[in-house]
Amino acid sequence: MVFKKVFDISIILGKESITYPGDEPFFREVMKSIESGVEVSKLSMSSHSGTHVDAPAHFIKGGKRIDEIEIERFILPAKVVEIADPFEIKIEELEKCSVMKDQALLFKTRNSVEGISRNGVFTKDFVHLTEEAAEYCVEKKVPLIGIDYITIEKAGNEGNPVHKRLLENDVIILEGIDLKNVPSGDYVLVCLPLKIWKGEGAPVRAVLIQT
Ligand SMILES: [Zn+2]
Repeated sequence: MVFKKVFDISIILGKESITYPGDEPFFREVMKSIESGVEVSKLSMSSHSGTHVDAPAHFIKGGKRIDEIEIERFILPAKVVEIADPFEIKIEELEKCSVMKDQALLFKTRNSVEGISRNGVFTKDFVHLTEEAAEYCVEKKVPLIGIDYITIEKAGNEGNPVHKRLLENDVIILEGIDLKNVPSGDYVLVCLPLKIWKGEGAPVRAVLIQT
C-alpha cells in the first residue's frame, strides 16, 4: 500500500526535547569513538523524555504497564484537532469536532505552532487539557489522547487529576508530539513504545499516515 504522506511528529531527543522539572534529563555520551574502530554511545533519560507514552501504571497502582498493553493500542485511526484557545483545551472546542469511536485525538495547539514544545526549555505557560475535557474524552471512549507538550497536565495541578482520570479509564496518553506541519484531519497514528519490561512510560517514534 502506498501512503499519500507520512508525517514524523516526533521531536529530536537531545536537541529539541524538554526536561520535565525534577526528571532525569536526556543524555547521550559517546563511550567508544569511531577513532577506536567503532562508535558506541550510552543513553540516560527519564522514560518520559521527548515524544513518549504514559501507561496506566504511571499514576494508577496496579495499572497496565508498557509491556502489557496490546500493540494494536499504538496503531490506530487518529484525528488531529486544531485548538484555538491559547491557554487550555476545553469541552467547547472538542464538541465541535466529531469524535469517532476508536479514534485517537491529537491536539494541535500553539505549543507546537509557536515551537515552545521543542525549544529545549520547560515553561509553565503551555496549553493543557482541562479536567472537564479529560472527562469528556473518557465519556466518548477515546482510546488515546495526544498533546504537543511534554505533559498534558496544567503545571502545578495538585494530584494530577487529568492524568489520573485518563489513565484509570485506560486512555493512553501520548505527550511531546510536534504537530506544527500537520493539517487538521484524519490519519493513521503509529506510536510504538520501546518494549520496556514493567515500563510505566516509554519513548516512541510517532508518525501520522495520510492514507
Ligand atoms: Zn509522561
